[in-house]
Amino acid sequence: MNGRNAGLAPVPEQLSGRIVTPGDRRYATLRSTYTRRATPAAVLLPRSTADVVAALRYAREQGRPIAVRSGGHGLAGSSSVDDGVVIDLSGLNRIEVLDHAARLVRVQAGARWAEVARALAPHGLAISSGDHGNVGVGGLATGGGVGWLVRSYGLTIDHVRAVEVVLADGTVVRADARREPELFWAVRGAGAGVGIVVAFEIEAVELRQVGVAQIAVEARPDGSTVRQWAEVLRRSPRELSTAAVLMPYGPMTVMSITAVVAAESLRRVRPLVAPLREIGTLLDDRIDLVPYPTLVPTSHLHANVGQQPNLTTNGLFTGMGDEQARAVTRAAGRALIQLRSVGGAVNDVAATETAYPHRHQDTLVIASVFPPQGSAALDAAWSGLAKHADGAYVNFESRPRPAAFDRVYPGETGRRVARAWHWYDPEGIFRPAYSPRV
Ligand SMILES: Cc1cc2nc3c(=O)[nH]c(=O)nc-3n(C[C@H](O)[C@H](O)[C@H](O)COP(=O)(O)OP(=O)(O)OC[C@H]3O[C@@H](n4cnc5c(N)ncnc54)[C@H](O)[C@@H]3O)c2cc1C
Repeated sequence: MNGRNAGLAPVPEQLSGRIVTPGDRRYATLRSTYTRRATPAAVLLPRSTADVVAALRYAREQGRPIAVRSGGHGLAGSSSVDDGVVIDLSGLNRIEVLDHAARLVRVQAGARWAEVARALAPHGLAISSGDHGNVGVGGLATGGGVGWLVRSYGLTIDHVRAVEVVLADGTVVRADARREPELFWAVRGAGAGVGIVVAFEIEAVELRQVGVAQIAVEARPDGSTVRQWAEVLRRSPRELSTAAVLMPYGPMTVMSITAVVAAESLRRVRPLVAPLREIGTLLDDRIDLVPYPTLVPTSHLHANVGQQPNLTTNGLFTGMGDEQARAVTRAAGRALIQLRSVGGAVNDVAATETAYPHRHQDTLVIASVFPPQGSAALDAAWSGLAKHADGAYVNFESRPRPAAFDRVYPGETGRRVARAWHWYDPEGIFRPAYSPRV
């Protein structure tokens, strides 16, 4: 198929066989994202930076909206577009260690984090990314990257040392702290609006095993369990990071905690996770040492066919007093609530250093609703939490509204992001839906 049947111009020779249109047997597994079924006019499958340049030129010539996709896990479903052209980077998925002594790794944007973990493990290296192996490098590493080891190692973007970007006009630019510093700044937190990042150079950490505890407790309705969870984190060394889910279970609310410790001996892990067993009535408790890739396993890899529609919003909290903790616990009756510890190494970075400015907060609170619940249900669930939120993280926001932009990129950060997006992409080819006008 060369594009003619979809009412599109033929693709250039370079992309021959790598355009997928309705009717092509590959279309069913390429049209959609994890959260949304879509009907793009075409999906292009470049395999190199030169292909991405050609794909972008071709897509622009069609005069249709363009979507960029790395792993297809974006919650807003923006990596596909009805009647538009998707540039799918899954063919750019190389992972190479550039300099073992410096732990410098080059990762192409279309790789999944499960593949990155698997490729780096034999080198004794890891990159703290997220909690799911099927998430793509490109979307996560242009937004932030709240991983299993976030308090130890900070966000994924905090380890990015250079990026290669195809700009809207087809120019290929390498950006780092010295060359194109403004582009480098914007890519780390607001990368979706500047161009197509084809590769990241990332400083990995030396890590083989991690301690993992799965702890389930009954969360008290007065919020004291959630408050104590935050208190344990506040007092703990940054080797400890945790993610927790609050779920109604019959008349009670269960807090299911995954605690990950960046330590290679159970003797170190046990005392760090022990206080978490005390924060509510203990329902379940397991502890193990596992290789890092176990946390983002290749068993997570799958095609994205719109299988998980949901609406999600989030807020970053600074401190967790009685009132906040009660509000979080109450919200669990109306939405799926996840808590992620942030703080630690995330807060070592100055707020102005990257386009992710939230460097003093210590908890990320995420709320999701699933069909048949819709936007009104999410708003109702979030209504008790909104006043406690001190900023938001772009990658857990599924509704691209201007108000979301202001929470994600507050104040001067937002003005700088908007200027960068306009400078590198004056016609707004990539401009996210919630972008303000410059
Ligand atoms: C099940 C699940 C678990 C998650 N867990 C975590 C987690 O633990 N921690 C965390 O931080 N986040 C997590 N996320 C959120 C995740 O970071 C975002 O959804 C991210 O955008 C997904 O990246 P992707 O490449 O798969 O997305 P895609 O859907 O491919 O892309 C989303 C958007 O990102 C932009 N984009 C993608 N690739 C590029 C590129 N190469 N250059 C420029 N812009 C690009 C585009 O605007 C695109 O529309 C999770 C999401 C899901 C669905």
